[in-house]
Amino acid sequence: MLGRLKEKGYLALDGAMGSNLFQLGLISGDSPESWNLEHPDRVKKVHQAFVQSGSDVILTNTFGGNRHRLKLHQLENQVIELNRAAVKLARECAGDSVMVAGSIGPTGEIIEPLGSLSVKDAEAAFREQTSGLAEGGADLLWIETMSDLNELQAACNAAASTGLPFAATMSFDTAGSTMMGVSPTQFVQFMQNFPASAYGANCGVGPDQLLQTIGEMKQAGGKHLIAKGNCGIPVFQEGEIRYTGTEEVMANYAREVRNLGAELIGGCCGTTGLHLHAMCAELETHPYQPTTLEQKTRPPSNPKSKSRRRRRNSSS
Ligand SMILES: [Zn+2]
Repeated sequence: MLGRLKEKGYLALDGAMGSNLFQLGLISGDSPESWNLEHPDRVKKVHQAFVQSGSDVILTNTFGGNRHRLKLHQLENQVIELNRAAVKLARECAGDSVMVAGSIGPTGEIIEPLGSLSVKDAEAAFREQTSGLAEGGADLLWIETMSDLNELQAACNAAASTGLPFAATMSFDTAGSTMMGVSPTQFVQFMQNFPASAYGANCGVGPDQLLQTIGEMKQAGGKHLIAKGNCGIPVFQEGEIRYTGTEEVMANYAREVRNLGAELIGGCCGTTGLHLHAMCAELETHPYQPTTLEQKTRPPSNPKSKSRRRRRNSSS
C-alpha cells in the first residue's frame, strides 16, 4: 500500500458500507455481515460504486465480524465463513488495481478495567476474525472506529500476528477526543508501538471536527494519516439518523484534509459513490498545498483579506 501511496501522493479510500446497505434494504437490528452470504449482489453493488468512483482501497463488509458482535445475531459460529466471504466479494469488485482491506470494528463490549471483557479475550476474538480475513485473501487489515486504547491494542496485536500490513483509526467524536477520552496526540504516540502502515481518524461528528483532529495528529508527528470522516453532521430525522453532507461539502473536506496532512482519504457514514466521486475529482485537480491548523484557523490580519474570509466561510 505504501508503495502505491508514494507513487500517487495520496490514496482514495471508499465511503460507507453500513448506511449504503440500509439504502438497499438492510433493516436496523439485522447483521450487515449476514448479507455476505444472503445478499452478495447487494454488498457488491456498494463496492462497485466506490471502485467506479475512484477508490484505491475498499473495505470489506466485516465491521461487526467478530464473535461478540455476531453473537447478537446468533452468528458467532460463522466468524471465519462470513469474513472469508466478504473478502471474496470485495475482491471480485476490486480487480487488480484496487486493494482490499479487511474491516475490523470494535467488539461492542467494554474492555477491562472498566468493563468485563479482558484484553486477552478481545485479542482472541480479533485473531479469529483476522484469520478469516487473511484466509480470504485480504491485501491488508483495517481496524476502525475504536475508542479504547486497550481494545485498539488487542486489535493491533491480532492484525500484526497475521503478517499482513494493517491500518488503524479511532473515532474522535466526544469533544475532540474518543468516547473513552483518548486525544489525537495520545493516539499518535500510542501507534508508535505498532508497525502499522497508516493510522488516523474515522467517523465522528462531521468534516470540521475531522480537520481539527487530523491537524492535531500532524502536529504530534503523525505519518501516513487516514481521514475517513462522516458525510456531514449526523441529524436525527423521522426516527433515523441521516447525514447532511453534499458532494461539495465532501469535496472541500477532501481537499482541506489533504492539505492538513492526511494521505489516505475517504468517507464514513452517509458517504455514497457520488460523494466519493466528487472527492476524487477534487483531489485529482487540486495539487497538495501544505497547511497547518494554525494557518487554517488564523483570522485574516488586514481588511483586504475580508472577502477571502467571507468566501471561505460560505463554503464550509
Ligand atoms: Zn461512520
